[in-house]
Amino acid sequence: MSTALLKSAQKTPVMSLKSIQLTDNGKVTLEELPIPEVGGSDLLVEMKACGLCGTDIEKLHGEYTASAPILGHEAVGVIRTVGADLKGFNPGDRIFPHHHVPCYECYLCKHGNETMCPHYRKYNLDPGGFSELFRVPSWNVLHGGILKLPDSVSFEHASLIEPIACCLRNIKRSHLDETDAVLVMGAGPMGLIHLQLLLLLGKTVHVSDMSEKRLDVANALGASSISNPKEVDVASVMRDQTDGRGVDVAIVATGSPKAIEEGLRSVRKGGIVSLFGVPVKDSILNYDFSNTVNSEISIIPSNAATEVETREALDLIVDGKPNFETIITHRFRLEEFNEAISMAMKKESVKILISS
Ligand SMILES: [Zn+2]
Ligand SMILES: [Zn+2]
Repeated sequence: MSTALLKSAQKTPVMSLKSIQLTDNGKVTLEELPIPEVGGSDLLVEMKACGLCGTDIEKLHGEYTASAPILGHEAVGVIRTVGADLKGFNPGDRIFPHHHVPCYECYLCKHGNETMCPHYRKYNLDPGGFSELFRVPSWNVLHGGILKLPDSVSFEHASLIEPIACCLRNIKRSHLDETDAVLVMGAGPMGLIHLQLLLLLGKTVHVSDMSEKRLDVANALGASSISNPKEVDVASVMRDQTDGRGVDVAIVATGSPKAIEEGLRSVRKGGIVSLFGVPVKDSILNYDFSNTVNSEISIIPSNAATEVETREALDLIVDGKPNFETIITHRFRLEEFNEAISMAMKKESVKILISS
């Protein structure tokens, strides 16, 4: 059968899919939803793995501020249906679809702020990544948001493309080229990915977290020091580690305002505080901001990633990096989503993957 025939024969059958949806009262339900219509250059994808992100948990608690509360954006899978207008993709292709894609043409895109593009958050996986099947909108497909996965890359590893890409972009924005000593605050999945990427760049990396279990993982991965803010003053430890200066860069890989304050106190004069975790809604800092000018401290936030970084992330994964076993610690099925959330809340897991 020719591809054209195959495509036209694939009129979406009237069927339903199971999807994790947010309800009004901050809970989730596994709902039966109609399969979205696959028009134009859309793709219908069968989900094989989708990472549970800290922002999914924030969305559940009504604490997320950046975009609409659609759950699941670290999804990978197999194309089931190809929109009639689309060339170059076929049913059966194993892919990573980026849930947000900029236009690369507007003023913000051309000035290095692609993730602030007005188109960036306009489209998303439909009805979300925690679904048996989801539609990838034409916009994302036509603007480079789809990466084909080499056979050597498993779906589990490929589900880290989006989180790794976000870390890569943050590292670029934090001017880490000119620095040596970095403090990563928060040893969740994003903190541990940052740690490993920074070690690959030859940096000295210190890690802080409230969970001893996560600190043990950071230690095993090669952190130069680990500190628990419940037991020590992280800023003092950082000065002890750097001849009294403070670290060059503190990466705040958590949404906690306390961690931001600690980051501001942990960097050297002229240092950089990189805000990576999205602070919870209504975050207020208890910090004397005159210090930022007197000590010339820069605050640089980084939000999400572009197709440049998703491609770089896939290249790293093809090379077998980072150490996946330390990051992916738990696996649940869609039906077990509530158990996955309970596990994530305990902070003893690192990255939790959901499969259909
Ligand atoms: Zn994420
Ligand atoms: Zn744009």
